[in-house]
Amino acid sequence: MRYLSTRGQTPPLGFSDAVATGLAPDGGLFLPEKLPDVSGQLKRWEGLGYADLCFEFMRLFATDIPAPTLRAIVAKSYTAFSHPDIAPLKKLGPQLQVLELFHGPTLAFKDFALQLLGNLYEHQCQERGQSINVLGATSGDTGAAAIYGLLGKPGTAIFILYPDGRVSPLQERQMACTGAANVFALAVDGTFDDAQAVLKEILGDQELRLRLRLSAVNSINLARVLAQCVYYLYAWLKLPATERSNAEFVVPTGNFGNVLAGWMLQQMGVPIRGFKIATNQNDILYRLFTTGEYRVKDVAPSLAPSMDIQVASNFERFLYYSVGRDPARVRGIMAEFKATGAYRFDGWDRGTFTASHCTDAEIPGIIARVHHEHGYIVDPHTACAFKDLSPDRLSVVLATASPAKFPETIRAAIGVEPTDPSLEALKSRPVIKYRLPANATAIRAFIEAHAVRA
Ligand SMILES: *Cc1c(COP(=O)(O)O)cnc(C)c1O
Repeated sequence: MRYLSTRGQTPPLGFSDAVATGLAPDGGLFLPEKLPDVSGQLKRWEGLGYADLCFEFMRLFATDIPAPTLRAIVAKSYTAFSHPDIAPLKKLGPQLQVLELFHGPTLAFKDFALQLLGNLYEHQCQERGQSINVLGATSGDTGAAAIYGLLGKPGTAIFILYPDGRVSPLQERQMACTGAANVFALAVDGTFDDAQAVLKEILGDQELRLRLRLSAVNSINLARVLAQCVYYLYAWLKLPATERSNAEFVVPTGNFGNVLAGWMLQQMGVPIRGFKIATNQNDILYRLFTTGEYRVKDVAPSLAPSMDIQVASNFERFLYYSVGRDPARVRGIMAEFKATGAYRFDGWDRGTFTASHCTDAEIPGIIARVHHEHGYIVDPHTACAFKDLSPDRLSVVLATASPAKFPETIRAAIGVEPTDPSLEALKSRPVIKYRLPANATAIRAFIEAHAVRA
């Protein structure tokens, strides 16, 4: 299987090269040349455990990795999950199920992809005798999940920049209390935007980039989207056969990476009824899927911070399919959007997507209602998905984070504070963070001094 860029100006790459490259050099995102039809395999896949199912699925895509090696990489990626089902499905009512995606090491769904990505990187380092230095800027969840994906892996180092004093104490502890020698939590004196600007400047230095083999953590890596297809498949296979084709997945959405994975699986022949895009008050995708207009607005920080986005970086992949896989049209639309901050789709066909949005004022009330009606505690991101569930179908809500990550919001809503043993354990460990000014020279010098070299 080969991988093409949505912008059509990058030669096709094999799986491992596309994963190592991340963003295509033409600015596009990688997609499989052809989506396989899996409809004939579904019967055979019923009853497989999570890691076995993930292997069966990923082998259709990772065709340049020998099957036994891939099986081992996948198996290893789901050993740090604390629930035996990895992605347990819980029934809350006759028409309502929750797919819990927060039993990984950082208690959020990003672990599903980043545990696997970390092991793919490690495999490549071994295979090619190279090292890799991963860089990212975070305002919360992605940094921790990326760190746990690479924790202690030989040949790798990870540097995560975050605004000092502006991430929650628990989030900081997840990044700065790992004790791993290859992890560097860089507390930058500035805002998230400052940290991101510095990161961009450093990654823009081609000489440094090649010499230290720098790679960016981001939400657009091909392997992330493919890994995320698997929990939709796993959940769908677990539903009673009579209900499967009536199931709508309801997905707390920010950058569109999570829900895109479900949609791609549907395109591969899995008969899913549809997807609901549940946004918070930063609702560019809600507006797009209800009006056909894609228009940027300023970000308003919310109680569901991992969905605080201005533009949805993975949307370009969906766009590519929706314009008939025509890279010239993708380039035209993205250029117009970049220049004007808006694009209007005429005759927009929203396919099987529906959308909802949820303001901060609504989130605590939803947490309280779900707790009252179902005895179930949802985190503020998942709460957005409970906004208006459709009564005529089976809703499968994706729970993207553990409520224990957001104790203050939950306490304010229902008066109790959820906890998790892994977060409690962090509280007794020393915080090891490096305070640095928000300037590229200082941070670059730090990275030079601590990078791994092959
Ligand atoms: C990242 C994240 C989201 C948004 O996922 P996208 O793939 O960006 O749409 C939702 N909830 C939580 C808890 C997250 O960490």
